[in-house]
Amino acid sequence: MKNLLVMKFGGTSMGSAERIRISASLIAEHAKTGPVAVVVSAMSKVTDLLLDSMRRAEAGDEAGLEHDVAALRERHIATCRDLLPAASAIPVLAEVERLVSEFERIARGIWMLGERPPRSVDEAVATGEKLSALMMAAYLESAGTPAVAVNAADVVITDAVFGAASPLMEQTRERASKKLRPLLEKGVTPIVTGFNGATVDGRPTTLGRGGSDFSASILAAALDASELWIWTDVDGIMSADPRLVDDVKVLNEVTYAEAAELAYNGAKVLHPRTLAPLVERKIPVWSKNSFNPSYPGTRIGPKISGPMGPRAVTSMANVALVSLEPASAAMSGTRLMARALAALSSCNAEVLTLTSSTYRQSFCFLIRQEELERVIEHLEEELAIELAHGYVRPIEVERNVGLLAIVGEGMRGTPGLAGRIFTAISRENINIIAIAQGSSELTIAVVVCKEGLVKAVQAVHAECGLGIPVAK
Ligand code: ASP
Ligand code: MG
Repeated sequence: MKNLLVMKFGGTSMGSAERIRISASLIAEHAKTGPVAVVVSAMSKVTDLLLDSMRRAEAGDEAGLEHDVAALRERHIATCRDLLPAASAIPVLAEVERLVSEFERIARGIWMLGERPPRSVDEAVATGEKLSALMMAAYLESAGTPAVAVNAADVVITDAVFGAASPLMEQTRERASKKLRPLLEKGVTPIVTGFNGATVDGRPTTLGRGGSDFSASILAAALDASELWIWTDVDGIMSADPRLVDDVKVLNEVTYAEAAELAYNGAKVLHPRTLAPLVERKIPVWSKNSFNPSYPGTRIGPKISGPMGPRAVTSMANVALVSLEPASAAMSGTRLMARALAALSSCNAEVLTLTSSTYRQSFCFLIRQEELERVIEHLEEELAIELAHGYVRPIEVERNVGLLAIVGEGMRGTPGLAGRIFTAISRENINIIAIAQGSSELTIAVVVCKEGLVKAVQAVHAECGLGIPVAK
């Protein structure tokens, strides 16, 4: 569709009646000049609350469940009362009640079963987004911008991997044309729930935590939008985490590949899977701040015009390094690696970096700490016989580590850069534990001891001159 703008509002941009009003005014302003499709997240902390109440239900904690459901109901009722004129609030409050009761019904089912089937969790956890879409559409309508709430389960078609589903783009394109295009052509703004979808046969799914960005890019691609604007609470993609480094700079533009590397390596600004659907159609994304809307933000696109070289440094503290090593010639390193990777893929774990040494045929890889237990379980199962017979050394786990990654398209053409980075880190007396540079040469990843992580980030940021230039 020509000139279609897709806008996505995150949890903080939906976090209160006041924030919803501001977000709505950004939608209304653009809806006046051209078609806009909107994707919304749940209000901040609501998804955590929903997941918490289902965990309590599973544990048999009925009082806890009731407490959480009451909090859910109250937050949305209070927001609606604040947001909407009394007359238009009545049907919306009834719908809030219906959605909350529906959630409660599923959560009570979990309580009775003493179990949380992933399917039920996916169905229930999208309640936060449904409530958000309902409120945003109602408010826009009451303020004179035609809008309608749409459940993404009717539009975004996915595989059946509950909790981490992937879109089926062809089917999604068809549905988006059928469901959303007629609305857009009539000048009605669809307010689509982020985060959720459904299988072809209609079973509800979700795309993973923080997946509303991904929802927005799926819809932008499915509708051939001309741009996607992702509204958050920061000015754009930064050269480092501003909580760790003082002189961080907002980047005016980055490439898709850089943004994806930054997201996968811990930058919080975009969900890592967001960019994939947009690349083929070259749809640019803007990361913008709904608390500072006149600031242009960061443009993410196929190419950038500025100088090449390192662009940003990211870090992740909650990671663990897992090491494996053959203990007998009967087990080759390659075979051990193949078996370990099979175990990792069977439990859907994401390997952040992997390095190996030829002499002892040992190798180590970095994963998120929250995945550690699952990964070790799968590795021990896969290698049970080899471990029992001593063909493989006991699996070693090091939690006291952190990852930093330096990202930039042009790094491959900069000889000596890796040396400068390692020197900057060692100047701070920080021990480097592992190093990896992908063959794309877009990222240099360094694993250091956890105590040194922040200092290492600061040192690399300064060494590469990533911060705000100092006036001479
Ligand atoms: N509400 C969902 C979550 O917190 C999706 C999102 O915010 O993007 O994970
Ligand atoms: Mg979010």
